[in-house]
Amino acid sequence: MNSDYTDQLNKAMESIEAAFRRNLSLTRVIITKINEVVHELTRVYRYEPKIKIMNFCGTHEWTVTHYGIRSLIPSSIVLVAGPGCPICVTPSHFIEESIRLALDDITIYTYGDVYRLRAIRPVKGVYSLSEAKAHGASVKIITSIAEAINDARAHGKESVFVGIGFETVASGYARAILSGMLPPNLKFLSVVKLTPPAMKYTLEIHRQERLVKGVIAPGHVSTIIGAKAWHEVSKEFGIPIVVSGFEPIDVLLSILEILRQLVKGKADTVIEYKRAVTWDGDLEAQKMIREVFEVVDDAWRGIGFIPRSGLRLKKRFRMYDAFGEYGVRDVAPGDWVHDLSPGCRCADVILGRAMPSQCPLFMKTCTPSTPVGPCMVSIEGTCSIWAKHRVLDVEAIKDLEAIQ
Ligand code: SF4
Repeated sequence: MNSDYTDQLNKAMESIEAAFRRNLSLTRVIITKINEVVHELTRVYRYEPKIKIMNFCGTHEWTVTHYGIRSLIPSSIVLVAGPGCPICVTPSHFIEESIRLALDDITIYTYGDVYRLRAIRPVKGVYSLSEAKAHGASVKIITSIAEAINDARAHGKESVFVGIGFETVASGYARAILSGMLPPNLKFLSVVKLTPPAMKYTLEIHRQERLVKGVIAPGHVSTIIGAKAWHEVSKEFGIPIVVSGFEPIDVLLSILEILRQLVKGKADTVIEYKRAVTWDGDLEAQKMIREVFEVVDDAWRGIGFIPRSGLRLKKRFRMYDAFGEYGVRDVAPGDWVHDLSPGCRCADVILGRAMPSQCPLFMKTCTPSTPVGPCMVSIEGTCSIWAKHRVLDVEAIKDLEAIQ
């Protein structure tokens, strides 16, 4: 990397820092506006003292927690997390299958968080890929499929890439497969999930109570699928949805936009994250995803099956498919068993029905160094984020209890 490029990058980062993270005057203006709109809403929503807004994505939960956004906004606005953490929602079944492959002398490529994820049932006494590695299995942590491809090419042994993630990574997987980059010894295990069906499922749960009044939609995913993917959801559930960036100013502006729409009785999909997201999204990436994958009903950890919420390789790519090649069983609705440890409330946390500190295991038996549930493992997991920021948010619990 030459020094000109580094200088430019540093300057750009400084500008972002100044505009989005240390911009106190703008922060004050937005918070004043939020307070004004909430005052107005109190008149409109006299019968409902609390307004619940779901920040769907784990990275938004990080921003909310890291920058203390809950403490900046009026207590009548309750921010709850959503199911936007791919590691948290990957069924135990696929962790178990990956452990089985690893113990059968197949090299497993996986992201760092997946490595530590604990299965609900052991395979030959082994509960995680990290334990499998300790037993001598070949488990390699990678940061991209390209890294797995290069390594698999170099050693030539039978290997499987565990393809976890949402639409954001699906296009990269599709590109690698379409361009024939995968060597014959590397198979792909697709456990990719789709976010709009999960958002619909979550909002359906809350529909009866009518407590979730708006959603901060995932910015990364929307760069691929576009804001239009949320339009149908906002209309079906009659709530505003704002596609937000990940800086604190982005999140505050998104909250303000949701509140403003509530005052006007609107339910539109709006892009706050205009520097990265368009209405239509990345059409080329969408085309590649459609070409490589078929949409299936899929299981979400702790939740069960959500219709048309997962991606599997199409038959014409079966030569890359770990399901066929290594007899990996797909999970079927009839086989579904609850896959969280006793006491773990991860499903409630990711569906916005509980705060981490309402779980009896939070920071007792379940900690970042001894995670019990998947939400404590992933860096995007709400429990992990709260634990690392030492949030034992009594006020947040009171707020949530007040509206349950
Ligand atoms: Fe599950 Fe641990 Fe979170 Fe409780 S604190 S919900 S056990 S991940």
